Amino acid sequence: GEVKDKDKDKADRATNELVMDQRTRMILLKMISRGIVSEVHGAISTGKEANVYGAVLDPLDGTRPLHRAIKIYKTAILVFKDRERYITGEHRFKRGANKKNNREMVKQWAEKEFRNLKRLHAAGIPCPEPLELKSHVLVMEFLGNKRGYAYPRLRDATLSDEGTENPWRPVYIQLLGIMRRLFRVCNLVHADLSEYNILYDKNKLYIIDVSQSVEHEHPRALEFLRMDIKNVGDFFRRKGVDTLQDRAIFDFITAIDGPVEEPELFEAIERLYETRPSIQDAATEEVDVEVFRNQFIPRTLDEVYDMERDAKMPVEQLVYNSMLANTVSVKPEAAEEGSEEDSEDGTTADGDDRSES
Ligand code: ADP
Ligand code: MG
Repeated sequence: GEVKDKDKDKADRATNELVMDQRTRMILLKMISRGIVSEVHGAISTGKEANVYGAVLDPLDGTRPLHRAIKIYKTAILVFKDRERYITGEHRFKRGANKKNNREMVKQWAEKEFRNLKRLHAAGIPCPEPLELKSHVLVMEFLGNKRGYAYPRLRDATLSDEGTENPWRPVYIQLLGIMRRLFRVCNLVHADLSEYNILYDKNKLYIIDVSQSVEHEHPRALEFLRMDIKNVGDFFRRKGVDTLQDRAIFDFITAIDGPVEEPELFEAIERLYETRPSIQDAATEEVDVEVFRNQFIPRTLDEVYDMERDAKMPVEQLVYNSMLANTVSVKPEAAEEGSEEDSEDGTTADGDDRSES
């Protein structure tokens, strides 16, 4: 709709200190005029592919401001990274297309994160509730305290050491349960799961950063799952947790039969501890584990998701283009915005970029 001058001022003030391109500012401006957020604050996080900003919404009824998080995928950076082409002169033929492809790509990543968050949220897996999506700008629930401080990443969390038991153990068990629910209830593999993409507060874990998550039927899903399992195991071992073997966890997560609800879920994990191989077998098991890892993890995720490199490639050649195409929306409402066939050829029903082609 129409954006009033008053709102424009407000938006300018709200976004002034932030370095943003005009398109992004315009999207935020419209969100402000629609009452999605009232003010955008400083960056909570600046990453390679996205920045996350804190924001507040002042409810019309005068109640306490609500905190929001806004994840903005970086289009401009991708275009900027393409500057070699400008120097070599190649850009004259490709500039428009690349700019469009970059924008299309980040938009698809944002869309994918939005849909995946919806799926997690619907399955009752703690995560930020996705609230609004426009192009590469995603508004979600803020995970933090009432004063606007974000919960720490699991990496930075300090756990109160009350009993004699390692306080990280129940957190580990909780995460294994989440991973199974993610796989069996959401049909997803996170594919970048680590202590960096989990927030922690009061013994509770929150899963974030799911733009790269894939369908469990994706050709590389099990490979990604093995990597997630390895990252999780490595982290908790550093915290002194007696972890289960990767293979046992893999079988537990992927098993068709078996519980997906508490408390049976956690009882099943405790049973894994009871039935695991004896100490004597441990050496041979270790060899097994190494073979298992090397067999199925031929490359790192970084190789697959190097956005800077991939920004220079035609969209149809990207490894993860097939991943985007493989995401099936759970909810009918998501399907309205653009069918999966649409994303496969790089276009969507929402034709923001069309006028330039
Ligand atoms: P990136 O792709 O840059 O890794 P993430 O989704 O992992 O993006 O977010 C980066 C950081 O921003 C997180 O580590 C976390 O600290 C913070 N963050 C992300 N989402 C939220 C949220 N909903 N509430 C509070 N903090 C968040
Ligand atoms: Mg992250």
